[in-house]
Amino acid sequence: MECGREYEEAYRCSCGGLLDVVYEGKRSVELKGKGVWRYSSFLPDFKKRISLQEGGTPLYRCDRLSERFGVEMHVKFEGANPTGSFKDRGMTVGISRAFELGKKRVVCASTGNTSASMAAYAAKAGMRALVVLPKGKIAMGKLAQSLFYGAEVFEIDGSFDDAMRIVERYADEGYAYMLNSLNPFRPEGQKTIGFEIAEAIKGIDRVFVPVGNAANIWAIYKGFKEFLEEGLMDNMPRMIGVQAKGAMPVVRAYESGIFRAFDNPETVATAIRIGNPVNAKKALTAIKESDGSAIAVSDEEILEAQRDLAVMEGIGVEPASAASFAGVKKLLAEGSIGKSERIVCVTTGHLLKDPDSVMRVSAQPKSIKSYEELLEYEHQDQCGSPA
Ligand SMILES: [Zn+2]
Repeated sequence: MECGREYEEAYRCSCGGLLDVVYEGKRSVELKGKGVWRYSSFLPDFKKRISLQEGGTPLYRCDRLSERFGVEMHVKFEGANPTGSFKDRGMTVGISRAFELGKKRVVCASTGNTSASMAAYAAKAGMRALVVLPKGKIAMGKLAQSLFYGAEVFEIDGSFDDAMRIVERYADEGYAYMLNSLNPFRPEGQKTIGFEIAEAIKGIDRVFVPVGNAANIWAIYKGFKEFLEEGLMDNMPRMIGVQAKGAMPVVRAYESGIFRAFDNPETVATAIRIGNPVNAKKALTAIKESDGSAIAVSDEEILEAQRDLAVMEGIGVEPASAASFAGVKKLLAEGSIGKSERIVCVTTGHLLKDPDSVMRVSAQPKSIKSYEELLEYEHQDQCGSPA
């Protein structure tokens, strides 16, 4: 993406720059079926697709939140994918590519969701999966998935960024095919989030996306751009990247114009607890070219937004996902979102991914021994009249 050099297969350019998948010839667009492969005319052509029927996730119109905040709020719920996060979209493309190349072993570094997804798709493809994780920093649901789908799991005393360095070297030396989003085939699948949003809603003003390793916001932007080129969409929404205050290298780069890694990233939103996102340049390009912005929210704001989505809309997401809606609330409070704007929040992973973070902030269940005790609680509660 920086020097214009072309490769048949690589993770990075020899200049250190990022790679993008480019298609030759004119596209003949045909949209058929549901999910990621509905958009096969925008995706690489494989002899065999390794798929768990990912994509085709709900896009909810949030009436209660819209009314409360005076905007038109929609939520794209990526938790409804086969392994409970948006990673499955990129993984079906990435693993199909690995299969095409005859790879037997795949590897990734992960904050949890990528490893869960890769483990499942490797199982489906009959490949060996190796994952490297930052020890003690992986939400319970994600670790359970990675282990149970049969991946070999390694923990490192360090951050995601440390794990990423090890995995990149391991892949560069040819021991396994790397399926982190540095692999340019991963964002190809993820751009279908943009396609699905664009097909469902017209005239979107802004799209809010949590930013961790930073490929997803760019992938969604790329999807919008390709739909615009084909006349399947009328306007480019402003892309808003949201990070946690404890891990905000992209926000800092957006504000200062200079990218530097963020030391010792720390946030309750473990899926975006990344100090040195490999795809930062792609995210910044998407933000700049769409006239968007990058903003940071506190852990408190993230947890409050997570609760709002659950109790007002019945949408259960993990903390990192709620960063997108926390970002909406922040811009509303600052007065920088116009009334009646049409907004889409992308929520990236399911509530069940991280039950521990929810239990820490939830009330404990009340013990009762009998029907009478239940009624006692009901009499204390003003809303407890028989329905
Ligand atoms: Zn280059």
